[in-house]
Amino acid sequence: RAKAEFDRTICYYEQGMDENARYRRDMARDLWCAVERGEFYLAYQVQKSIDSGNTTGYEVLLRWNRPGHGNVSPAEFIPVAEECGAINAIGLWVLRSACEEAASWPEPYKIAVNVSGIQLAQVELIDTVRNTLLATGLAPHRLELEVTETAIIGDKQRALHSLRQIKAMGVSIAIDDFGTGYSSLDTLRSFPFDKIKLDRSFMSEVESNEQSKAIVRAILALGHSLSVPVLAEGVETREQLTVLRKEGCTEAQGFLLGRPGAIDWDDLLEASFSA
Ligand code: C2E
Ligand code: MG
Ligand code: MG
Ligand code: MG
Repeated sequence: RAKAEFDRTICYYEQGMDENARYRRDMARDLWCAVERGEFYLAYQVQKSIDSGNTTGYEVLLRWNRPGHGNVSPAEFIPVAEECGAINAIGLWVLRSACEEAASWPEPYKIAVNVSGIQLAQVELIDTVRNTLLATGLAPHRLELEVTETAIIGDKQRALHSLRQIKAMGVSIAIDDFGTGYSSLDTLRSFPFDKIKLDRSFMSEVESNEQSKAIVRAILALGHSLSVPVLAEGVETREQLTVLRKEGCTEAQGFLLGRPGAIDWDDLLEASFSA
């Protein structure tokens, strides 16, 4: 009787499994094979100094061309990859490919790579970063890891340990999407970081809404008093850039300066000759 009930429950569960859960399960299955099938590629988005207008580096953004589905947004597949564990192998591929690419760029340019909280919670990440730098010949100071505040809260002690060790190699750490996590100030107090990336949600109203502007100003002041540069994400208009310049923001990234895509080699070479 119990067996029949169990079967019925399972059957009910299978039927009741909503479209969404099924979609995620299939996506997880595909993600596990996507690296070896060569379905991933990288897009690069330029980061510029607001004062000089010079390129300082590029952030690498993962793209997945999923057979039968076309391009899937990382905002959609990264959470699934984190949930099923495929993020470790995928993250390794991203890091390796990005460092290989950046090793051929002229000296001052940095490559910024997003790192998931799942990766950060693994002690192997420390060796992975070290080995990747050795294998690709990229100087440590040219690599920046972007970590969100929420990535840190999972296993705080382990994440902290990894970040310290990686920083000790000379790699820099940026806090991504700053201001959207629920422990912003605590993060600032306890984690080693070299840059604050102001979340793009602050940009939408920075010109029109005094309250948004006041918050941006406060975060910039925070960066200033901690002697840490602040990069504004999601800059789409000249007006936003003007406000940011006036308020003393260090760097900017966004559609106004360049959409994620191929490296602009003219820009890289020109800037390195004039430097
Ligand atoms: P993120 O790291 O905060 O990356 C910035 C996102 O904002 C990118 O979305 C970028 O295309 C978008 N963006 C840039 N400028 C503008 C702008 O002016 N306006 C607007 N509306 N959007 C802009 P994307 O490429 O879809 O990536 C989304 C998120 O997925 C990333 O947010 C990051 O959290 C995650 N992600 C992407 N690649 C990787 C990766 O290799 N590893 C991990 N762990 N996460 C990744
Ligand atoms: Mg990022
Ligand atoms: Mg961000
Ligand atoms: Mg984001």
